[in-house]
Amino acid sequence: MALSEFDIIARYFTGKGPRRDDVVLGVGDDAALLAVPASRQLVVAVDTLVAGRHFPGHTGAFDIGWKALAVNLSDLAAMGATPAWATLSLTMPGVDQAWLQAFANGFFSLADPYCVALVGGDTTRGPLSVTVQLQGHVEAGTTLRRDAAAPGQALFVSGTLGDAACALQQLQGGGPVDTFALQRLNRPEPRVVLGESLAGVAAAAIDISDGLLADLGHILDASGCGATLWPERLPASATLQALPGEQRQAYQFYGGDDYELCFSVAPGKRAVLDALLPQQATPVTEIGVIEAQPGLRCRYADGRVVTPLRHGFDHFRAGDDD
Ligand code: ADP
Ligand code: MG
Repeated sequence: MALSEFDIIARYFTGKGPRRDDVVLGVGDDAALLAVPASRQLVVAVDTLVAGRHFPGHTGAFDIGWKALAVNLSDLAAMGATPAWATLSLTMPGVDQAWLQAFANGFFSLADPYCVALVGGDTTRGPLSVTVQLQGHVEAGTTLRRDAAAPGQALFVSGTLGDAACALQQLQGGGPVDTFALQRLNRPEPRVVLGESLAGVAAAAIDISDGLLADLGHILDASGCGATLWPERLPASATLQALPGEQRQAYQFYGGDDYELCFSVAPGKRAVLDALLPQQATPVTEIGVIEAQPGLRCRYADGRVVTPLRHGFDHFRAGDDD
């Protein structure tokens, strides 16, 4: 028996997931009513995942639900914000209850640890497409912005780079797919706690969704400066370390879907950073330095300095980079 739009909302999305005291009205009215803490600024992000474009068509429903929230959590982390409330716009070709249950399980299993309340949404019929809007808050003046890099700041990245791109290429090649890399592609762990800790400490930040060089390029453009990177120091998982050097570097430079944080820290904040990093579950690696000279340079251990291409190869992406 086919469920109506109202049945779907009631069965899978009403009263599910974390509850918050600051949700005055959640799912069920014409709009949600939220109490924003008085001293904080509202931070809002939205991302749409379209089947075949932002994830391979055969991706499991759990992973789609997880990832739709993860990419937005990652955007808020890159602002130094604390996530709080989400809305979900779900467009599906038909009603598949097993799919819906798995999707909701994926979504809420990531909403739970970060106490994100689902406060509303929209449910329609059409080609599979998932839009999550996420709202959170941050103390005024501590936000991590793309335009705040300045010469002399040290450059860092969280976690490891290039794993998701490695999995995507293996998937597209039709051969065996590395389990760890596939997990990184389908269930990215947004660096929420690290991002919140960096508010007021880091200067500029961005989350790496389109590849390190492209996303670092956004920081450099917005800040009107350049940088030198040390490619051999880029963090690599065991999976990537097993690859030939050139292939590993291509994944690390250009691979999308990492959802790690890239950020800069002024010399005056270095001691604060060093004190907070040991408490973080996510490792952080220093990868270069911000400079006044525009452009991006790679300095290798043997002294070579190379200007890399900013964009790699399109086959590192599921679709385009929007
Ligand atoms: P309206 O016609 O007023 O826009 P809807 O019938 O679309 O209302 O939605 C009814 C309620 O269910 C609203 O509170 C809406 O936010 C919520 N809702 C609809 N779809 C979803 C969804 N996929 N997830 C969470 N809440 C949803
Ligand atoms: Mg509606």
